Amino acid sequence: MFLSLKKTTVIALMTLLFFSSCQKDPVVENNSSKQITEGFVLDADTLGILTTTKVADTYVHLYHSTSGAQVNSYAIESRNKVVIVDALHFQSRGEEMRNFANFLEKDIERVLVSHAHADHYMALGNFKDLPTYATSDAITNIANEGEATRLFRISLGEPFLSEYPDSVTIPENVVETSFTVDDIKYETFNFINTEAKDQMLLKIPSLKMIHTADLVTIGGHQILIDPEQIINAIQYIKALEGEGYTTLLTGHNGMEDMSVLDPVLQYLYTAKSILDTNPTAADYQTQIEAAYPSYGDASFVVLLMDNAGAFN
Ligand SMILES: [Zn+2]
Repeated sequence: MFLSLKKTTVIALMTLLFFSSCQKDPVVENNSSKQITEGFVLDADTLGILTTTKVADTYVHLYHSTSGAQVNSYAIESRNKVVIVDALHFQSRGEEMRNFANFLEKDIERVLVSHAHADHYMALGNFKDLPTYATSDAITNIANEGEATRLFRISLGEPFLSEYPDSVTIPENVVETSFTVDDIKYETFNFINTEAKDQMLLKIPSLKMIHTADLVTIGGHQILIDPEQIINAIQYIKALEGEGYTTLLTGHNGMEDMSVLDPVLQYLYTAKSILDTNPTAADYQTQIEAAYPSYGDASFVVLLMDNAGAFN
């Protein structure tokens, strides 16, 4: 009886091994990645632009919304899995990014929301069947303020009116301080009262990349809650160059090198020197626009700063 069972077990195992070795490994086959240029077609060229960068055997896909908040979402495609960072602002863009992520035909391991600003989470409903993550501060802030933000933006009319969901999707899971997907390690940090009340910084050591979200804003006005906190955050990012980090994944610009940080710091020092005089919102707007005329109208940024309590 024992021998017979044992023989059956051995045959079963050998059969399993035989079929396993005969099967094509879909992981290896897929490792070349389905590139955007090989068939994924954007719905309309006005919605977004996709750019892919390959680092070792990992693809970093950047989806950049070409209008609205001009916000980014990244799909980091490693051997078996995909990690998405940020869920975009408008429904049409979120839907398009989700279609692209599906097109990659890999397991979407998680969707991270970098911070509790509407342009980064409002289209999260397109990903709500997947595990969604943010810092505990971001989850709290979205839960507390998301619906009021949704209604406020809708009250402004188009383009928000037709691009906002019927309800806010709140990230479900608190992101770990470190996690590994495939063999790629991710490390997270939470910076408070910078560009937002909460800001996740995501370091990817093996790719020498840092997802900065809106801590790094180039060539445009930046929301500032406490300028000292965001200056500290930028100096922290700058110091990572000494650890070999080379690439910043920004929330609204592109994938940038570390040289962009000095002009960002200059803007922050200027903004801080204005804020240190306790200006009204209107005075701050006049002065920051005068200091950076090429950055355009600061009114919406100043309105959001006012709502966040940046002015006395
Ligand atoms: Zn943003």
